[in-house]
Amino acid sequence: MHNSKYGDFGDITYTEKTRAVIKVQDGCDRFCSYCIIPFARGRVRSRKPDSVLKEIEDISKKGIKEVVITGIHVASYGKDFKNNYSLIDLLEEINKIEGIKRIRLGSIEPLWITDEVIYRLKKLEKLCHQFHLSLQSGCTETLKRMNRRYTAEEFKEIASKLREAFSDCILTTDIIVGFVGETEEEFNITYEFLKNIKFYKTHIFKYSERKGTKAAEMKEQVAGNIKEERSKLLIKLSEENEKSYLKDYIGKEVEVLFEEKDEEFFKGHTANYLLVKAKSDIDISNKVVKVKIEKQENLELIGNVM
Ligand code: SF4
Repeated sequence: MHNSKYGDFGDITYTEKTRAVIKVQDGCDRFCSYCIIPFARGRVRSRKPDSVLKEIEDISKKGIKEVVITGIHVASYGKDFKNNYSLIDLLEEINKIEGIKRIRLGSIEPLWITDEVIYRLKKLEKLCHQFHLSLQSGCTETLKRMNRRYTAEEFKEIASKLREAFSDCILTTDIIVGFVGETEEEFNITYEFLKNIKFYKTHIFKYSERKGTKAAEMKEQVAGNIKEERSKLLIKLSEENEKSYLKDYIGKEVEVLFEEKDEEFFKGHTANYLLVKAKSDIDISNKVVKVKIEKQENLELIGNVM
């Protein structure tokens, strides 16, 4: 952790020399029924664009090449400004900063992805085509109880629009399994939905009650052993999807920003956030290098520097 000297907002987290995580927003006004954050962190507050841009300019001069733009509900960025300035405006300005090679978005609210946002995102040549869209459930009935404000069908449409606009994009998501009242049938709908959309990775969280939320007062809490069983099924599906995605990369050429080295390999990520390992006699850390993928081992890609 590193204390911000940019005054108007909390801390910034750096990871090594390559990537910086920039928190641009705090709080949330959405009130999902299971979530304590709107009560605990308060309403949406956004960091001033000048402060964000100045900080990114400064760190780019120190060699940081990638920024991850995050917040508690980053899609709400700018909601508390009076001039309609929003997240997409901020991204467009970050895109102009010399020295920054990659802009990555943290977890994003699906409803932020409108046609206009896609149109403007497509013009950002530094944007990483990796989108983490929090789904939480693939069943519209469950989503309603969660107060998630979109249906499974709407989410599906957003995912296909993104895939159409960014043919190389990787989609990841979060699921809460065993939410209050989740029947066998609802769970199966979510399972089939995930199978159908085929995310690269799905992070599974077993629902746990947060006192003070609406969901905590709902009846029909799901038993622990059922949550466990459902969670295992979704984890298995996610791993199968991940392996099948990675397999498709064998023989392909990708660009990797190398971040660190263990005893044998340099390790880094592609723009769409696949982990790649490669050997090299010269130091390739903090460089974007072309790599040909030779094989897949477990959930890692191994390649040769070209
Ligand atoms: S889950 Fe996310 S969007 Fe929903 S209330 Fe919590 S922080 Fe806000």
